Amino acid sequence: MELLPLSLLVVFALLLGSLIGSFLNVVIYRLPAGISVVWPRSRCPHCGHVLSPLELVPIVSWVVQGGRCKNCKRPIPLRYPAVEGLTAVLFGVAALLRPVFPELVFIWAFIALLIALAFIDIDTKTLPNSLNYGGIFLGLLGAGFLGFPQNFQAAVDGGLMGAGLVALFAGYGGWLYNRFKDGPREGPFGVHQVHLAAMVGALGGMLGTVGGTWLGGLGIVVGLLNASLNARTGKVFALHDSLTLGLGALAPIVAWLLGLSPLESLRGMLVSAGGMALAGMLYWWLRNPSDKVEPAPAEENLEGYVSVMGYGDVVLAGFLGVWLGFSSLMVAVFIAVFAGAIIGSILRRFGGDNQIPFGPYLAIGGLVAFFYGKAIVQWYLGYIGLA
Ligand SMILES: [Zn+2]
Repeated sequence: MELLPLSLLVVFALLLGSLIGSFLNVVIYRLPAGISVVWPRSRCPHCGHVLSPLELVPIVSWVVQGGRCKNCKRPIPLRYPAVEGLTAVLFGVAALLRPVFPELVFIWAFIALLIALAFIDIDTKTLPNSLNYGGIFLGLLGAGFLGFPQNFQAAVDGGLMGAGLVALFAGYGGWLYNRFKDGPREGPFGVHQVHLAAMVGALGGMLGTVGGTWLGGLGIVVGLLNASLNARTGKVFALHDSLTLGLGALAPIVAWLLGLSPLESLRGMLVSAGGMALAGMLYWWLRNPSDKVEPAPAEENLEGYVSVMGYGDVVLAGFLGVWLGFSSLMVAVFIAVFAGAIIGSILRRFGGDNQIPFGPYLAIGGLVAFFYGKAIVQWYLGYIGLA
């Protein structure tokens, strides 16, 4: 750092982080409630007392007031200063690890988005599209103009394949868990179109590049045609999950038997499924741009079909893929599954049925992998003797 000493930068990062953390508390509470995050002024949730600037100093106000509202003396949850402290610490760590501008500003935005997503998921079991797609667009913007956090090609590949990985995890998980029952049909854009894209991508991918066109991406074209046919006719045309997911799983094996590329088949499957999943969620988001969480209507209980993972997690994986690239994204997912298993079993032992959704674990995995993903991949390749 030539411009200012590192210690000064870290102090600045801690202060900025606590202020952003204070704003994140507002976002976490208001976004799912459908209230503007900038207006009106913050109030005590118990008595409606409008908070003065002195009561809004991050962490300090809470400590000075003994964790209570100044007016009605009722308790303010410890989570408010905890989110401020967490944001401050992570901003400080980022400043220590990457004291470079403008990259550091992007990393701070990445951290802030993940904290908001994680806590909203804990509260409401949803991941707002505005934050997920905001992260995707910001990552692509940085990639396009700065070559940071990834070069543009790696960011696009990582986003598509990351979303594809979790979409297929959800697809195959649901298919097996529900014993090969067909999933719920949703028009014009549903999981069936994602599974169709996965199958076509897997079959096309094993043929590789023909006439200058990589056929692994063909699944997105076919999926979009299926969705527009549904939109045009008002019906839902969909192939049974057992056909699309079954053939999709067979394709890499067939590719290997025929002496074609099983890896290209897998890549085609991931890219096509991810592209279709991100396009589908974008479609639903544009149709209903509010992040307000509505109570789920009872009739949407989809005839006893249990979904193993929501599509919010799929888009979050796409967001992380854009920022991390695909190899580090796989590290993030691995950490998320591992942390989920450990923390989940501890919570079940001590906290009863207090279930944490997958989003917060993905956020933890994403943060660790952002800074250490490449090192972990190198270590692993060395460990299995590939590097
Ligand atoms: Zn009060």
